[in-house]
Amino acid sequence: MKKIVAWKSLPEDVLGYLQQHAQVVQVDPSRHDPFVAALRDADGGIGASVKITPAMLEGASRLKALSTISVGYDQFDVDDLTRRGIVLAHTPDVLTESTADTVFSLILACARRVVELADWVRAGQWRTSIGPAQFGLDVQGKTIGIVGLGRIGGAVARRAALGFNMNVLYTNRSANRQAEQAYGARRVELAELLAQSDFVCLQVPLTPETRHLIGAAELRSMKKSAILINASRGATVDEAALIEALRNGTIHGAGLDVFNTEPLPADSPLLSMPNVVALPHIGSATHETRHAMALNAAENLVAALDGTLTTNIVNRDVLAK
Ligand code: NAP
Repeated sequence: MKKIVAWKSLPEDVLGYLQQHAQVVQVDPSRHDPFVAALRDADGGIGASVKITPAMLEGASRLKALSTISVGYDQFDVDDLTRRGIVLAHTPDVLTESTADTVFSLILACARRVVELADWVRAGQWRTSIGPAQFGLDVQGKTIGIVGLGRIGGAVARRAALGFNMNVLYTNRSANRQAEQAYGARRVELAELLAQSDFVCLQVPLTPETRHLIGAAELRSMKKSAILINASRGATVDEAALIEALRNGTIHGAGLDVFNTEPLPADSPLLSMPNVVALPHIGSATHETRHAMALNAAENLVAALDGTLTTNIVNRDVLAK
């Protein structure tokens, strides 16, 4: 029987499904050596949120497929997997809508100061009717700039254009005609997007090209009233530069689901800023979506080990090997 390593706990029915096809070995990824030993003895692996380095795969000669319970695959060295003949599968689409909801909740929370003012009420500060000191900013009718208008960016654009009557700007290496037609999205250079947007939303994958895509210079080129939303990966933003920009009033605020170091260290200056909403990487984290992702990843893995997987493959080149 085939052997699968799971480095994330799985819903019971998903685990049951995998067990119909293979022996499943559950490992604790924080215990490095037993994890690596299990990978060396496995045909497949499934998990999320853990860096899988080439060194961890040395001697894993049986390994044929890895399946990440995520759409992003920046935790893997894709070229190295391809060289080793290991298929990497991921879970696009199933998490698109719930992640777009998270982006929009950050937009609204930042603009209308939802978290700050809810804390203010809880602290007993609401003693007379509110005034300008508690006012926020409008969202409807404003300009949103989406850096990376793909699946999730497209779902954000739909909410923005059709739900909130917003103007949509975006950057991509290639045009997204569907979003242009359906939501009036306009593809511009990053400099124009930064200069014109009231909300700048990052939804690019983390790659060598997108690492620190937003740094001090880019933050300076944004409107003083602008809000930065990052639900991509922490490293797409230079976090030190962002902290500086938020302190100096270079930009108005930030809604962040992802950080340089996760969990966010308790002494991060971001945590003491009233103009920051920080979430614990909850982009896709609803019961329904996380279940759909786990099932999708399990089905991907079983099909990859059978040699029948045709979709959700990150490194298609591997099939030609
Ligand atoms: P996607 O459909 O592949 O969209 C990514 C978009 O980014 C594409 O439109 C792509 O267009 C653009 N892009 C890629 N490289 C770029 C570059 N160098 N410069 C400018 N644009 C670039 O992926 P998705 O499903 O929307 O997911 C996007 C990312 O969201 C994931 O990779 C993941 O990191 C993140 N995510 C986070 C959470 C969370 O919990 N916060 C949840 C899900 C996903 P071109 O190829 O034309 O450039």
